[in-house]
Amino acid sequence: MVNFESLEEYGHEQVVYCYNKEAGLKAIIAIHNTTLGPALGGTRMWTYKTEEDAVRDVLRLSRGMTYKAAVSGLNLGGGKAVIIGDSATQKNELLFRTFGKFIEGLAGRYITAEDVGTSVKDMEFVRMETKYVTGISKALGGSGDPSPVTAYGVYVGIKACAKYKWGNDSLKSKKIAVQGAGQVASYLCEHLYNEGAEIFLTDINEEKIKRTLETVKAQVVKPEEIYDIDADIFSPNALGAIINDNTLSRIKAEIIAGGANNQLEVEKVHGPKLVEKGIVYAPDYVINAGGLINVANELEGYRQDKALKQAEGIYDVIMRILKISEEKKIPTYEASNKIAEERLSSVGRISNIYTGRSFFSGRLSEIIKR
Ligand code: NAD
Repeated sequence: MVNFESLEEYGHEQVVYCYNKEAGLKAIIAIHNTTLGPALGGTRMWTYKTEEDAVRDVLRLSRGMTYKAAVSGLNLGGGKAVIIGDSATQKNELLFRTFGKFIEGLAGRYITAEDVGTSVKDMEFVRMETKYVTGISKALGGSGDPSPVTAYGVYVGIKACAKYKWGNDSLKSKKIAVQGAGQVASYLCEHLYNEGAEIFLTDINEEKIKRTLETVKAQVVKPEEIYDIDADIFSPNALGAIINDNTLSRIKAEIIAGGANNQLEVEKVHGPKLVEKGIVYAPDYVINAGGLINVANELEGYRQDKALKQAEGIYDVIMRILKISEEKKIPTYEASNKIAEERLSSVGRISNIYTGRSFFSGRLSEIIKR
């Protein structure tokens, strides 16, 4: 349950329960940290077994967004929302417009976007009630599908890892095992293929593989075989927790870098194990930040070329993380957390400087009027 103890544990500013009987809305918005700017993060719709599961998820995910925005150099804070319900059967206009009203009530402290279980169309209903929403379609002035920018960020992140490990960022002739042939992976494969990489591809969905093979050449392998490929790079772009005790004893790649979220099954266990094995690991929330960079661009008037340019910065961020990880002998996810925390505390101090734009309602305003 949310109580002040849990807010203190996770370091949150505000958690809002949103309820409306007519719309069947049960949502929780968590604003973790607004030091760098408004809290931006998607809305997940999920059939949580208990309210406690929903709370835990929203607290964990919103904190993750603070770190992601901070390490990516964005002037955004971290937030996330969850709607408790079945996205296959319980979505409708009323639900999302009602949810939009609650977001509007937060006056810009929280900006939403789509996430697991919500879509561009849902966000367009939210947009009818509030401007504090991103990830709407290009036709309506939004940024549309974030996957091309996410994939480009993953691509440059892989190149940074290659430069760090082998002294050269060329991926020509490198053997790359790509897990997943979905949105992110299919765009990523195009970049890898164009650079001359040798791709091994897997997905549980044959249609997705077929579609990817329309634009790239790859050797298709069974889902379970992807961990055993004698590859230089393993790129997970499907599901989480794929770096675990079972797979770590099989992966031969010297680099693990892909767009999937939550790749380490247990951060504190598998992060250090990667260091022990000498595997260069690009922290997931850093290398896949192109999605966030894409929607953040929507706030200033969206242009994909600008978003792609900004996503290119992931190369330098990953390089910095790998160097800190080596110097301090810490796992890369800890190194990226460090960079994020340092930015929060240093750049956050800027707001301490008085800019002279305050409104004086007392004696001073009287003086100014005269
Ligand atoms: P997607 O649903 O389009 O693709 C995921 C693919 O993984 C699907 O084709 C699915 O069939 C496949 N898959 C599922 N289980 C598998 C298994 N056991 N073995 C092999 N393949 C399997 O999703 P996406 O948008 O491409 O996102 C991929 C990952 O990247 C997710 O973890 C997502 O959270 C993360 N991510 C995506 C974006 C984005 O912009 N789309 C941004 C940041 C992070």
